[in-house]
Amino acid sequence: MITAVNVPELRRLRAGMRGDFGLVPTMGALHEGHLSLVRRARAECDRTGVSIFVNPAQFGPNEDLHRYPRDLDRDLGLLEPLGVDLVFAPSPETMYPAGFQSWVTVEEVSKGLEGGMRPGHFRGVATAVAKLLNIFAPDRAYFGQKDAQQVAVIRRMVNDLNFPAEVVVCPTVRAPDGLALSSRNAYLNPDERQAATVLYRALSAARDAFEAGERKASALRAITRAVLDAEPMARADYVSASDPDTLADIEGVGAGVLLSLAVRVGHVRLIDNLLLLPGKPNVSCH
Ligand code: AMP
Repeated sequence: MITAVNVPELRRLRAGMRGDFGLVPTMGALHEGHLSLVRRARAECDRTGVSIFVNPAQFGPNEDLHRYPRDLDRDLGLLEPLGVDLVFAPSPETMYPAGFQSWVTVEEVSKGLEGGMRPGHFRGVATAVAKLLNIFAPDRAYFGQKDAQQVAVIRRMVNDLNFPAEVVVCPTVRAPDGLALSSRNAYLNPDERQAATVLYRALSAARDAFEAGERKASALRAITRAVLDAEPMARADYVSASDPDTLADIEGVGAGVLLSLAVRVGHVRLIDNLLLLPGKPNVSCH
């Protein structure tokens, strides 16, 4: 496994690699969710690259950029045994040198949900991912269903701008009690960690209703809200039932629905979602 920190070095190393290449973009502080993407890339591609970059452009001014967990040595120690070939760990100045002024904006699909709460977030995500796709030139790029709107934004961008990469989406990896793994879970104190199980409990209640035949988005949202409201430490930013591709709000969910939510537990903001498709059990891994 070789780690590059600048673009020419990465390109030189990548140019020497033959066969299908899979890229897993991350912000580091790796956990089993990230590692599941890496394992999938390893299984499907001849060569695998991982980027580790806490992308300042996707954080708002009052967000957690400065306290976001960073431990490159630990991350490299987790990646090495998985057989990763190439790691890219650039500095912010390498990704956004002085004079940088070219941004990728994916318009409609970036507007609601996380994009509505975090203005500029998806412009930062799309720009960084576009750069990584150009730098690595992967055949496949791997993303987690955990960040469902990010998946929709990147799919749209890859289609619209003709990136020659396939977007592969991997199931959400969860703790045994259902909490989706996230680098931000490290911010939770023990009481908050316990309360944070409410996200998956709320989504699961709606999934059960969907599987029992409920097909009204308003009913699924109400079921989700009722579970969230019963947890005094949790405050919902939004509960949404939307089209999985366009992210537009829908009322009839017969063809499938993305049920997603953002919840504050103490000072920690967590997101989760379930993709509910008629006749298909929801996939997530414990
Ligand atoms: P991040 O480091 O948070 O930017 O995440 C990097 C990639 O890992 C993104 O594609 C995420 O969607 C994915 N990811 C994060 N958490 C999980 C999880 N619990 N299960 C599956 N994928 C995840």
